Amino acid sequence: MTQELTVENLFGVFDESAALLSRLLSIPYLEALGETAENLFHGDVIQEELNEMDEKRLQKLYSSAQLDRYSKEAIRKAFQLAILKGMKEHVQPNHQMTPDSIGLFIAYLLRKSMGKNPSFTLLDPTIGTGNLVATVLNEFDGKVEAYGVDVDDVLLKLAYAGANLLHHPITLYNQDALEPLLIDPVDVVVCDLPVGYYPNDARASSYKLKADSGHSYAHHLFIEQSLHHTKPGGQLFFIIPNGLFETPEAKKLQAFLTEEAYIEGVIQLPETLFKNKNAAKSILMIRKKAPGVKKPKEVLLAAMPSLTDKRATASIVQKIDRWFADYQKG
Ligand code: SAM
Repeated sequence: MTQELTVENLFGVFDESAALLSRLLSIPYLEALGETAENLFHGDVIQEELNEMDEKRLQKLYSSAQLDRYSKEAIRKAFQLAILKGMKEHVQPNHQMTPDSIGLFIAYLLRKSMGKNPSFTLLDPTIGTGNLVATVLNEFDGKVEAYGVDVDDVLLKLAYAGANLLHHPITLYNQDALEPLLIDPVDVVVCDLPVGYYPNDARASSYKLKADSGHSYAHHLFIEQSLHHTKPGGQLFFIIPNGLFETPEAKKLQAFLTEEAYIEGVIQLPETLFKNKNAAKSILMIRKKAPGVKKPKEVLLAAMPSLTDKRATASIVQKIDRWFADYQKG
């Protein structure tokens, strides 16, 4: 019997296979999910240590999935649900996956900024599970060449396996992204900033935004590194803690940004997306300075209401649309 093509059913396949592989191979669920995605991509069971009976069981499960009949968004959502389940086991707060509502909103801002049919290069220096990038790439299908970096090999494996399943062209690097990167400057950076101190003081010392004493803020260094890897006139979207500009180190960050870029917008995300008010975040939208790039007359400041509040959302979207229309008129 073939099953209905729903996200829930596809999630069921990811979940059952990951739980089974986790038990059989004695590895955490998230790692087993990476193996699962690899199997689905190859249309085969690639773990050689399994016995014939387990291999057959998995093969039957995968053929019932009918993966090729699902849309890319359905595959991304089912994979995302399974990652969320795995992250409940144990994941550091700073390694959380970016919710797709944020990726969709950034894609909307990008579309406003770049027009209907853009083709561009994109970098996420902390790509994690790849969900943020996958959400954006699904919105600009086939037109984006992407690069991603992450220090966490389990999450990067998920990004890699997910990109294969979605046929997204992404080049991935498993390294500390604050070390030198072999990536040419890109048109667009997206980055859900890991917030906290960067332990490598020697490396931090090569950044303008290093702390005067003690450890530097990793999130400040990531902003500098990202600008360094952006083409003149390129655009950057950071998911930032709401208090980014309120710390003692913020003066230096502000001066650096004024020197190198134009702040285009700060948009507060709905508090309902986060565990509590203190964990709430915003999107910082900036553009690297370049000859011919204009400073916006005013910075777009907005607070997104809960997305279930349709009227309030429509009014903010109108405000954002007006801001882009004014900016583009010059
Ligand atoms: N956007 C990602 C997603 O959708 O899964 C989530 C990003 S998560 C908020 C932050 C990521 O930063 C984590 O995956 C973590 O491993 C990574 N990270 C932290 N410090 C890093 C470093 N120095 N170099 C590269 N990645 C780093």
